[in-house]
Amino acid sequence: MNKYLQTLVKNVRKQLEAWLNEQEGIHHRELFRFLHSISGTAETIGFSEAGKMARSLMESIDEKEDKEWTKEELQSFLFPLISIFYHEEYSNVDEVITKKENLDDQKLILLIDDDTALLMYLKDELEKNGWVVIAVADSERAIHSYYDLNPDCVIIDIHMKDKNGLEVLSHLKEQMNQHFIPTIMISVDKSKEMRMKSYELGADDYIQKPLEMDEFIVRITRQLDRKQAIDDLILVDELTRVYNRKYLPQVYDRLVNQLQRHYETFSIGMLDLDHFKSVNDTYGHIIGDKVLASFAEMLKNTLRLNDVVIRYGGEEFIVLLPDTKADDAKLVLDRILQDFSKQTFAKNGESFTCTFSAGVHEVQVHELDLTKNIELADSALYEAKQAGRAQVKIVPVTEGTYLKKPVHLGIIDDDPIIRTMLEDLMSKSKFTEQFKLDIRSFKDGMEFMESDWHTIKDEPYLIILDGMMPRMDGLEVLQSLRKMRYQERFTIMMLTSRKSDHDISRALQLGADDYITKPFKLLELETRLGHLLKRMK
Ligand code: GH3
Ligand code: MG
Ligand code: MG
Repeated sequence: MNKYLQTLVKNVRKQLEAWLNEQEGIHHRELFRFLHSISGTAETIGFSEAGKMARSLMESIDEKEDKEWTKEELQSFLFPLISIFYHEEYSNVDEVITKKENLDDQKLILLIDDDTALLMYLKDELEKNGWVVIAVADSERAIHSYYDLNPDCVIIDIHMKDKNGLEVLSHLKEQMNQHFIPTIMISVDKSKEMRMKSYELGADDYIQKPLEMDEFIVRITRQLDRKQAIDDLILVDELTRVYNRKYLPQVYDRLVNQLQRHYETFSIGMLDLDHFKSVNDTYGHIIGDKVLASFAEMLKNTLRLNDVVIRYGGEEFIVLLPDTKADDAKLVLDRILQDFSKQTFAKNGESFTCTFSAGVHEVQVHELDLTKNIELADSALYEAKQAGRAQVKIVPVTEGTYLKKPVHLGIIDDDPIIRTMLEDLMSKSKFTEQFKLDIRSFKDGMEFMESDWHTIKDEPYLIILDGMMPRMDGLEVLQSLRKMRYQERFTIMMLTSRKSDHDISRALQLGADDYITKPFKLLELETRLGHLLKRMK
C-alpha cells in the first residue's frame, strides 16, 4: 500500500472513530464533506474504486438536506465504502461477501492437543482443506463441549501434560454411546503397545508423528467419508431408538401432502429436557443417557402409532402428530409431562426426577416451509422455558413475529473499520432469523470491562475479541472473563495477528473457544461464528 493511501485510510479510520464515539447524531453536512473529500483524494492517488463509491454515495443523498444521522444509519450507509477500504488494507483477502456457503455441509474437526504450537499449525493446515477445526488445548474443556459441538472427527494427541490422550479417548468413547464419530490418535510413540492400546480403546486410526501432511489429510478424509456413509444409512438414533433428524423431511412432506390434499391438520411439538446439563453434571453422562433413553421410550409408548418421534438434537425431540390440532397436541404433551415428571431415576441410592418443556405449533396452509415451522415451534418452546419450564406452550397462530433467543454479541476491537464492518455484517446476517442479536461494539478492553453490558448472568454472550488493543488487551479481557462467575455464558472468538503465535497459544490456554487470524475473510468469520452460535442456547 503506498503512503498516500495509508494516510487516507488513517484519516478514514479517524473520522469513523470520531463518529462512533459521538453521543449525538451525526450531521448531514459532515457526512457530505467526508464523502466529498474521499472522492477527491482517492481518485487523485489512483484508488479509483473508493473514489467512485464515495461519489456515488454522495450523489445518492441531497447536499442541502438538514438531517441528523444515527450511528446505525451511518454504518449501514457507508458499508459499501468501508468494505472497499477493508479489502484494500487487507489486500490478500479476496472473497465475495454475498456468497453463502451451507454451514451444514462443512465438516467439523475437533482437535485436542496441549502443545499449542502444533495445534495452531494443524488447524491452519487442515482448514486449507475446507474443514472447520476447533482447536482445544484443555482436554477437560474438550470433553465438556463435545456434545454441543457434535464433531465429524476427533483428533487427539496422546501425550499431554495434564491428561493422557488415551484417557480423553476413553472418556469420549463413553460419551459417544453407539454414535459413530471417528477418532484419530496422534503420537510420537512408535511402540506396538501404544498402537494396540489405542485400537483397544476404540480409536479408528493411529498416526505417528512427525506427521506427513498429505498422508494425514488422506487418512482424515477417509474417516470423514466413512462417517458420512454411515450417517447416510442410519435413520434411527442408536441411544434412544427413535428416528434421527434425517427422517424429519420425509415424514414432514407426507404430512404436508395430506394437509394440502385432505385438509388434515397436523402439529409439531418441540420438546427439550429441563436443566439437563445439571443432570449430567450431578449424576454423570451415563445416567444422563439413561434419562434420555427412557424419555424417548415413554414418548413412543404413550403416543399413537401414527405419531412420529424424532431425536432432533442432544436432549431435544420433535414429535409430529398427524390429524391433531394444537390444543389437542398440548393436551397430549401435558399428560406426558405429568407422567414423565413422576418417573424417578437413581444413582447410588440418590433419586431424582426430570421435567421437560415443549412448544407446539399447528402447521398452517399458508406457511409450509419446514425450517420456518420448526422455528415457530422452537419459539414456543423458548417461551415455555422463559415461563419457568416444565410446561407446554402453543404458538399463537395470528402472531407474525415471535420470540427469538437473545444472544449478546460483543465486538471489541480498536480498529473502527473492523468494528463497522462486523457490526454491519452481523446485523444483516442470517443469524438474525434465529437469534435476537444484541450487538454492541467497544473500542478497547477497558471500555468493555467497565460497561455493565456483559453482566446479565443468564444470557449467552458471543464475544469477538481483538488480541492487540491499547489500555487493556484481548488476553487480559479473556483472562478476566474466564475468572468471572458464570463464565460459561461467554463464548469467545479471538482475533489474532498471524505473526503472534505466542498470543494465539496463550489465548487457547486461557480458554478462548476459537480464534481467527487477521486479516480474515468475512465469510470465514461468519461461518465460524455460525458454528459457535449453533452451540449456544
Ligand atoms: P434448559 O432447561 O434451558 O434446556 O437447560 P439445559 O441444561 O437442558 O440446556 P442445555 O441445552 O444448555 O444443555 C443440554 C445438555 O445436554 C448439554 C449436553 O451436554 C447434554 N447432552 C446432549 N446430548 C447428550 C447425550 O446424548 N447424552 C447426555 N448424557 N447428555 C447430552
Ligand atoms: Mg434442555
Ligand atoms: Mg437444549
